[in-house]
Amino acid sequence: MIVVMEPKATRDQVNAIATKIQDAGLSSHISAGVERTIIGVVGDSHTKELLRQSLEASPGVERVVLILQPFKLVGRDFKPENSIVDVEGVRFGDGSVVVIAGPCSVESREQILKTARAVKASGAAMLRGGAFKPRTSPYTFQGLEEEGLRLLAEARAETGLPVVAEAMDAAQLMLVVKYADMVQIGARNMQNYTLLREAGRMRLPVLLKRGPASTIQELLLAAEYVVSEGNYNVVLCERGIRGFDNYTRYMLDLSAVPVLRQLTHLPVIIDPSHAAGKWKYVPPLSRAAVAVGADGLIIEVHPEPDKALSDGPQQLTLENFAALMAELTPLAAALGRRVQSPALRG
Ligand code: PEP
Ligand code: MN
Repeated sequence: MIVVMEPKATRDQVNAIATKIQDAGLSSHISAGVERTIIGVVGDSHTKELLRQSLEASPGVERVVLILQPFKLVGRDFKPENSIVDVEGVRFGDGSVVVIAGPCSVESREQILKTARAVKASGAAMLRGGAFKPRTSPYTFQGLEEEGLRLLAEARAETGLPVVAEAMDAAQLMLVVKYADMVQIGARNMQNYTLLREAGRMRLPVLLKRGPASTIQELLLAAEYVVSEGNYNVVLCERGIRGFDNYTRYMLDLSAVPVLRQLTHLPVIIDPSHAAGKWKYVPPLSRAAVAVGADGLIIEVHPEPDKALSDGPQQLTLENFAALMAELTPLAAALGRRVQSPALRG
C-alpha cells in the first residue's frame, strides 16, 4: 500500500503519517520525489486495511493506493523517478553508462594492479574482482578470500576506482563490507534470502545479479528483500539466463532492460561476459547493452586470459578492452548518452 501525499504536503504532515504507520506496527518507507512524497507501507495486510481509512482522512494525504504488484518498494508506483545509486562518486542510473571492469577472480597483486591501471586508463569507472568465487566444481580455484579483498583495496587506493566484490554468505559479507565499496550478490545466490536480508541491513550498495533460471519478477522480489531492510542502494544486473543453445554460456536477455525500466526505478546493468562465455561475443553484446538503454556494463578483463584461474575464455585482454571502450564512447554519444569517466582521485 502507498500513501500519495498532496504536492503541497508539509514535512510535518509526512512525519505524522510515518508515525501513524509505525504505531500500527507496520514499516514506512519515504520516497521524496520532485513532485510529491510517496510513503510505502509494508507489513501485515489486515493491519494495513484497518489503517487505510484513517490514513486517507489525514491532512496532506491525496490518496491511498493498494499496490497490486508483488514487489512494492522497488516498483515504479512507489517511486516514479529513476533511482541513482552512488558508489563513492560513481553514479548508476543518472543516464550515463557506467563500466565496471576487472578479472573474474583476484589472482595476484601484480594481476589486479596491472588490470586496475589498464581499465582505468581505458575509461572504466569501477573495478571488479572476485575474492570468494562461486565455482561449479569444488575442486577448482575458490578465490584468495580476505587476501584478495586486501589486494582489491590496494588497487582502489592506487587508482581511485571503487571496487565491487562478491559475498556468498554473511561472514564473507562482513569482510567485503570492510574492504569493498559495493557487494555483489551473484546469480547463484539471488534467492539466498538470509544473505539478501543481511545485505539490506548493511548500508553498502548491492549489485544483484539475476539467477540463470529466475524470472524478472523473482529478481525484483529478491531486490525487495534488500530494500525492505532499508538499503535502497541496489543495482540490478542481467547476466544471461539458461537457454538451450551451447554456443553461448547463457542467453543474454536484453529485453529484461526495457521491462525492468518500466517496472522498477532501480538502475539496471548488463554483464555480457558471463552471458557470452566467449570473449569474442562480449563487444557486440556490450554495444547492444548500451543501445538497449542499460545503465552500465560489468565486463571481465584479464592481462592473460589464457592463464586465468577462472572464466578464462570469456575475459577480454587489456587491449581488447581498450578497443571496446573506444567503440562505446561514440556509440553512447550517438544515443545522447555518455560513458561515465573514472574518478579523478587516485
Ligand atoms: C562473477 O561475476 O564472476 C560471477 C560468478 O557471476 P555470476 O554470479 O553472474 O555467475
Ligand atoms: Mn566470472
